[in-house]
Amino acid sequence: MRLGFHVSISGGFSLAVRRAYEIGCRTMQIFSRNPRGWTVKPLDPADIAEFKRLREEWDIGPVFVHTNYLINLASAKPDLYQRSIEQFVIDLERTEHLGAEYLVTHLGSASGKEPGWMIERVAKALNAAQKLHPPKAMILLENTAGEAGDVGYELGQVRQVIDGIDNTSRIGVCYDTCHGFAAGYDIRTKKDVDGLAKEIDATVGKSRLKGIHLNDCLKDFGSRVDRHWHLGEGKIGDDGFRAFLNHPFFREVPMIMETPKETEEDDPRNMKKAKSLLK
Ligand SMILES: [Zn+2]
Ligand SMILES: [Zn+2]
Repeated sequence: MRLGFHVSISGGFSLAVRRAYEIGCRTMQIFSRNPRGWTVKPLDPADIAEFKRLREEWDIGPVFVHTNYLINLASAKPDLYQRSIEQFVIDLERTEHLGAEYLVTHLGSASGKEPGWMIERVAKALNAAQKLHPPKAMILLENTAGEAGDVGYELGQVRQVIDGIDNTSRIGVCYDTCHGFAAGYDIRTKKDVDGLAKEIDATVGKSRLKGIHLNDCLKDFGSRVDRHWHLGEGKIGDDGFRAFLNHPFFREVPMIMETPKETEEDDPRNMKKAKSLLK
């Protein structure tokens, strides 16, 4: 079973993989650049080579890259929409230069628009991006909490986006447990987890599920508020994660924790918790 964290790239990608190794990651997630700005620094070939060498040596993989936060593939604003497609392609190219397997993206939002409008918009954006740069890495669509008008809070919506994409051979899904819980997908009991597994299979299909974001949720079930929390310490709790982590449908899927990092102890504590819940 592969567990890991989202780790900082501050100081370079080779430092990111060292951080991951030190906290016991067997898989990891990174940004390809500053996630809150449009500017991009060129990748340093020596740093990339070292990153690849270390992840190989330490058997850390798959590597997930998360897209920049400013990208909004559902935007109703023509300028931002176009820019988002271009910036998505930059993230995709960097993902591939890093030798990472997956690029995870949120679906975006458009104020005052119906989900159906946004779904069509995202699918078009992904078609345009794939035309600009036929992907080698796989693009993973992440479910959302449905906060602030985000689309993708129902698995059926994620499926509809996939249905609108011309070439789906490089399209997969990343399921976030906090987002799902906030959006109304309960996992607090074994029965709930069974239900979620069936729902994923019936909508996007098990074969597309390539990654899990393993986060507890600070806010209530169905609150539509996206606040990640420490494993077992939020509203999903120990029993929920025990049921989830040991479920055969999810067990073999690589899992990334995006839990808060307020102190140096937080990541080791969450890793220890995850392992303690595994049977
Ligand atoms: Zn996530
Ligand atoms: Zn989130």
